[in-house]
Amino acid sequence: MSVKRRTISEINEKIRGGEAVVMTARELCDAVRGGEDVRFEDVDIVTAATCGVMSGTFAVLSFRVAEPNTFERASRVFLNGVPAFVGPCPNERLGVVDVMVYGTAHRDRKYGGGHLFRDLVLRREVSVEVETKEGKRIETTVTLDEIPFAKLCSTRNAFRNYLAFVNPKEGAVPTIFSVKELEGPFKELTFSGCGELNPLEKDPTLETIGVGTRILMSGAPGFIIGRGTRSTPEKPNLMGIADMHEMLPEFLGGFVTPAGPEVVNSWAVPIPILNERVLENAKRLDSEIKLVVADVHGREPIFEITYADVWKRAKVTFDASKCISCDVCEVSEVCPTGAFDAARKKVNEVLCFNCGACVRSCVAGAFSAELGKVVLGGREVPVTARQSDRHKAEKLAELLKRRILEGSFTLSAPVERLKF
Ligand code: SF4
Ligand code: SF4
Repeated sequence: MSVKRRTISEINEKIRGGEAVVMTARELCDAVRGGEDVRFEDVDIVTAATCGVMSGTFAVLSFRVAEPNTFERASRVFLNGVPAFVGPCPNERLGVVDVMVYGTAHRDRKYGGGHLFRDLVLRREVSVEVETKEGKRIETTVTLDEIPFAKLCSTRNAFRNYLAFVNPKEGAVPTIFSVKELEGPFKELTFSGCGELNPLEKDPTLETIGVGTRILMSGAPGFIIGRGTRSTPEKPNLMGIADMHEMLPEFLGGFVTPAGPEVVNSWAVPIPILNERVLENAKRLDSEIKLVVADVHGREPIFEITYADVWKRAKVTFDASKCISCDVCEVSEVCPTGAFDAARKKVNEVLCFNCGACVRSCVAGAFSAELGKVVLGGREVPVTARQSDRHKAEKLAELLKRRILEGSFTLSAPVERLKF
């Protein structure tokens, strides 16, 4: 019996010849759910993606702030008021600063590193304040086009198999895992993870994904550089890097939580269908992917459900005709991305994260989404917010598919397997 195999070089030849067959993870999963027999011969690449709150995201920026010899070295730098870490290179007397900005660093409760990254990608002018070692203060502005080196990096992103959270105790807990304080006991559930679309769910044994795999990070070509912090064989996650100049603003940004501003990032990863085993893994559906429900206090697992229990309709919709123009709009108060403009009765679709928090907050039912309910120990617990945007993940997987089909994105073979 012949073993069915193909190599990444053979797939790249097909891409160059315009013959590669590419399916998004959504298309593959829908075909499998519909009873279609998708065979090895039918598909060369599956594009998988995830979009979510990814705290382990930071930027490395290097740019000029003054003429050479204006100051000896910078000691503190703020971009739109967001504090940056200076260095590691001191750039002595060059008038240039190298900084790292964490996606979770923040100026105030509503503006942090994620908001700053998006403002940069939008080519907005950003204020820069530099305090120097010798006590000078330099104020200037910069746009991304004036920053020659701007990379987005991750300490850990794209977690496979993330968590759902509940508060089993009386009262409410401020947490980064919700958009409002998480109410207990068992009054609501929030969760993260794109389930059957996640790249590491599509390749759970890391047979094709490794160091050097070419990806799209928030729309820009980039690479996987290793495993991330707290990565284990059961719950792997990834480190990656990509150039901010090529990123698209709809795939990254800020996300306000009761415990401070967070950062949204997105990854799309091509899964080359090298053999039938890789294809079988890529076919896994939400119903086969477990989701641990943890106590928000200490993150101890207390229940187990699957992503099929929480992912229904990805898109949140708004019906302006139902909006009664309240004096104080609860949705505007709670929306973590500032996507809703109550005065104009409009949702900014580029900013909207499809988290669903508006569904419960709107007094007139103008927002709708199938957020669903889960049963935990005999109690029915409603899902009130999602910290992953599967609608955007689908869009990013489609973008990667288009780029492969037009020949502008080819696959790279890993230079090293990911080790644990
Ligand atoms: S809470 Fe709902 S009905 Fe009231 S202003 Fe906001 S969107 Fe409109
Ligand atoms: S789903 Fe609703 S609350 Fe969430 S970002 Fe969109 S408009 Fe805001």
